[in-house]
Amino acid sequence: MSILSLCEPKYLELKNRLIQIRDLEVAASVLSWDQSTYMPTGGTYARSRQIATLTEFAHEKFTNPAIGQLLEDLRSYEKSLPYDSTEASLIRVTRRDYERAIRVPSEFMAKFCQHQANAYEAWVKAKSVKDFSLVQPYLEKTLDLSRELASFFPYEHIADPLIDYVDEGMTVSILRPLFKQLRQKLLPIVEALTSASPIDDSCLCQNYSKKQQLMFGHTVIERLGFDFQRGRQDETPHPFTSSFSIGDVRITTRVYEDNFTEALFSTIHEVGHALYEQGLALELEGTPLAEGTSSGIHESQSRLWENMVGRSRGFWECFYLQLQGIFLQQLGCVSVSEFYRAINKVAKSPIRTDADEVTYNLHVMIRFDLELAMLEAKLAVCDLPEAWNERYKSDLGIVPADDSEGVMQDVHWYGEMIGGRFQGYTLGNLISAQVYEAAVKSDPEITVAIEQGNFTLLHNWLKQNIYQHGRKYTANELINLVTGKPLSIDPFISYIQAKYSTIYNLKQALNA
Ligand code: ZN
Repeated sequence: MSILSLCEPKYLELKNRLIQIRDLEVAASVLSWDQSTYMPTGGTYARSRQIATLTEFAHEKFTNPAIGQLLEDLRSYEKSLPYDSTEASLIRVTRRDYERAIRVPSEFMAKFCQHQANAYEAWVKAKSVKDFSLVQPYLEKTLDLSRELASFFPYEHIADPLIDYVDEGMTVSILRPLFKQLRQKLLPIVEALTSASPIDDSCLCQNYSKKQQLMFGHTVIERLGFDFQRGRQDETPHPFTSSFSIGDVRITTRVYEDNFTEALFSTIHEVGHALYEQGLALELEGTPLAEGTSSGIHESQSRLWENMVGRSRGFWECFYLQLQGIFLQQLGCVSVSEFYRAINKVAKSPIRTDADEVTYNLHVMIRFDLELAMLEAKLAVCDLPEAWNERYKSDLGIVPADDSEGVMQDVHWYGEMIGGRFQGYTLGNLISAQVYEAAVKSDPEITVAIEQGNFTLLHNWLKQNIYQHGRKYTANELINLVTGKPLSIDPFISYIQAKYSTIYNLKQALNA
C-alpha cells in the first residue's frame, strides 16, 4: 500500500476536525459582527460570554492531543507532496498554528482576555475625559501580560513572538532597519511637501448627503469587483471587514456628511480586504488556509485599492463626471485636477487614521518604536505620554492637544496587547507598492484599463497571484514569489516621489 492510500483517511480526519473548529470560530465572529452592527446595547454582557464560550470550545478542540498525533502521523505524507499543494500546505500551516497554541496555557489566555475587556472599558472612559492616569494601571498590567505571553516562546527579541502571531516570519531584526531606512527617506519628503504652498481641499468639506454618498460608493465598489451575491455592506462607527466563508464576506462603513473622503476611501479600503477573502480558491473553504496570510499582506490589498487605485488620477478620470453629476452644487465648479489634488493633500496631523499616505507611516513607526521600548523595559508606562508627545514633535512637528488626541487615540494597546499591533500597517503600505509595481510590470495595460473604468485586469491579476493562495505561503514567500525580490522600501518611495512630485510640482526636491 502506498503512503498516500495509508495516509489519506488521516488527512481527511484532520481536515474534518479543522472544519468543525473553524465553524465554531466563524459562529463566534458572526456574533461579534452582529454586536458591532445591529445588536441592542443591552445584549453586551451576554454576548461577550457567548463569544467567549464558543472561542473556548474551539481552542479546546484545537489543542486536543489527537490533533498533534494526526499531524505527527502525517509527516511523511506531507513530505511526499509538493510544497504548495493544498494538502501539504494545510498540514504545514496547521502544525505551526498547533505548536503555537499549545505553548500558551489556556488559564493564561482566559486571564489575558478578561483583562483586555477590562482595559478596553477603562480606555473608553479615560479617553472620553482625556485622563491617561485612569487607564495607566490597566496598561501596566497589559505590558506585564504581553511580556508573559512572549515568554512562552523562544525568541531573539521579546516582541518577535507577538509580531509572529499576525506577521509570521517578520522579526524586530528585519523590521527595525527597514523602518529606520523608511523614516530617513520619508522625513525630508514630508518636510518638502508640507513646506510647499498648501493644497486647497475645502471642496471636500461641504455638505454631502449620506444617501447619495452611499449610492455612489455602492456603484464604485461594484465596479471594483465586490460581489454583492457573496457579501454585504452595513454601517458601523469603526469600519471593518468580516469573512464567514468565501461566499459571505461583509464590509462596514461610516459616513460623515461634512467630509466626502471618509466614507468613500474607507469603503474602498475595506473592499480591498474583502476582494482578498472573496478571491480565495474554493478548495480552501472552511479550512485554516481560507484567509489572508498575514496582517501585512492583508493591509497591502486594502491600501492598494484605496490609494494606488482609488486615489489615482486614472480612477478619477473615469469616475469624476459621475460624481460631479451627483454633487453638482458642491463640485460643479471644481475641476478633476483640483479634486485629485484635494484628495491627495499632504499635511502633518495628530491622528493616524486621518493621515495621508505620505505621513501615515511616520505615525505607525512612532507606535512601533514605543512599543518595543516598553517591551524592552526601557520605557515605563507612566512615561509613555511624554515619550509619545516628544516623538510627535520631532517627527511631525506636532504636540497633541491632550492625551486623548495623543497616546490614547488608538484602541490597539488598550483593547489588545503591547507588541505586534502596528507593524502590519506599514508593511501593508510597502507591500502594496511592491505588488502594484509587479502587477503593472507584468501587464502594463492595467493602468490604461483603470482609466477606462475596467478593474478586471488588476482584480484577476491579484486573484491569480495573491488571493487564491490563502495561507499556503507566508508573507515573505509570497512577496518573493509575486515580485521576484524580498520586501524593500524602494517601490513605495519611488511611488511617493513620482506621484507627489507631480501633484506638488516639486520634481527636484523630491527626487534628490
Ligand atoms: Zn485595513
